[in-house]
Amino acid sequence: MFLPTTRQELDTLGWDKLDVILVTGDSYVDSPFIGVSVVGQVLLKAGYRVGIIAQPDIHSDADIGRLGEPELFWGVTGGSIDSMVANYTAMKKRKKSDDLTPGGRNDRRPNRAVIVYTNLIRRFFKPTRPIVLGGVEASLRRVAHYDFWSDRIRRSILFDAKADILVYGMAEKTIVALAERLVAGGGIEDLRGICTISNEKREGYLELPSYEDVARDKRAFIDMFHTFYRNNDPLTATGLCQRQDTRYLIQNPPAPYLTQEELDEVHGMDFERAQHPFYERQGQVRALETIKFSIATHRGCYGECNFCSIAVHQGRTVRWRSEPSILAEARRLTRYPDFKGYIQDVGGPTANMYGFECQKKLAHGSCEDRRCVYPDICPRLDVDHGRQIALLRKLRKVKGIKKVFVASGIRYDLLLGDEKHGRRYLRDVVAHHVSGQMKIAPEHTEDRVLRRMGKPGRDLLLAFIDLFYRLTRVAGKKQFLTYYLIAAHPGCTERDMRRLKRFASRTLKVSPEQVQIFTPTPSTFSSLMYYTEMDPFTMERIFVEKDPVKKERQKDIVVER
Ligand code: SF4
Repeated sequence: MFLPTTRQELDTLGWDKLDVILVTGDSYVDSPFIGVSVVGQVLLKAGYRVGIIAQPDIHSDADIGRLGEPELFWGVTGGSIDSMVANYTAMKKRKKSDDLTPGGRNDRRPNRAVIVYTNLIRRFFKPTRPIVLGGVEASLRRVAHYDFWSDRIRRSILFDAKADILVYGMAEKTIVALAERLVAGGGIEDLRGICTISNEKREGYLELPSYEDVARDKRAFIDMFHTFYRNNDPLTATGLCQRQDTRYLIQNPPAPYLTQEELDEVHGMDFERAQHPFYERQGQVRALETIKFSIATHRGCYGECNFCSIAVHQGRTVRWRSEPSILAEARRLTRYPDFKGYIQDVGGPTANMYGFECQKKLAHGSCEDRRCVYPDICPRLDVDHGRQIALLRKLRKVKGIKKVFVASGIRYDLLLGDEKHGRRYLRDVVAHHVSGQMKIAPEHTEDRVLRRMGKPGRDLLLAFIDLFYRLTRVAGKKQFLTYYLIAAHPGCTERDMRRLKRFASRTLKVSPEQVQIFTPTPSTFSSLMYYTEMDPFTMERIFVEKDPVKKERQKDIVVER
């Protein structure tokens, strides 16, 4: 069932009021790939009356007021992506298109949507129920952070939005627990996975350097980020507090990860996998083309590329769904009238992290002093593609399915590091799960830049390419690799880009087209490098290209013929 978005739907449901109203910067697509829709459905399943308002008009109460006021709380999210990332290119130019806005034009999501929507609620409902922030924008801006668009350190978004509570990370457990507490009239001080504002520090919590200190001192900002990053694992994290003005941001430890049964339950819910008709009338969203018939098999990532924030939002521990749950979802997909037999993607943040984890991490949490796969694969991570091979084989046999694609990125260091099953996995992917081309993301080819990115060196890339083309020949297919690359990452010079170009044309024999200019998104190590011009692991000073014309030139060195 769609969450209601109009009065008429409330009447049909016989609901005079809603318990929770969710407000989002995307159009409303009911899908397991859309966080606000998952949160809404989880609350609905727990017995709460939930409504949703997508991309409200910010100049009137026409949208924000149409469902009335909730009994328990408002939930506000910028949408599936941070609104500034969604609205601007790496060159800070306004993006024209948007995959989650009706009609594909980027004309509905305000900049800093979380703040704007909170103000909108406060303007028309005064006083009102608690306003709870969630989603990627809130989660990654929960403590003092570098904001590329204003080129400065900003306070926690909870302070800037003047909201009451911020739910961070994957929110299913926290949001239901929060609703229960509010119904019971109990306190929320100890609720995991939330941030709140207090006049005092919290005893037993670690105190981060204050907002004023980190805004003034780049070294203090680096220290702050390390402590923030380390205290992100539910098994080991300590609560954090940070003075922002005269008050404190209080971050409780993260909520426990969902168990496999809980994850299966979330994905077993009856999503419509469609845009709500009210919004569909305004125009279709393009995002559905890729997510409608895709299956998420796991969440979390221990790749920890320095430019990526998945580890901070979803966690460094991979949790995966059971095979029966995934197969049941595949069978459900075959029953949609518009299903043509093709599953667009089976994967997660990294496709080949399904089905294995480090036992030490599962019992005691992530290590503080090393990463699981960088600079090399930790001996305690027992990489094993066996479960994925078995899963893909079973998916291929589901009645009504013609082809299952693996479109999520494959980490080739993991694949090559699995002596037992890595080759067999790639053989199956090449033979059955690729359509003409396979995209991989080396991001660069020069070791000094790759080091700043936290990505494997080019020897592994070459080994993977060799194996891919050998297996492709064996399969008798005409398939090729395409490469995602990044220009102007901290540490990268024009000389590095020229070397990349030379390596691509002489060794890889390609002219890369997929080159993105680095965007410093909130709460990543690469953004920390961009702002401080220091390597946060060695504290060396590094070159950072900040001139937009020169950034563009770095890209052009590779893409111009
Ligand atoms: S022991 Fe190795 S694989 Fe396990 S959490 Fe630590 S670094 Fe990761």
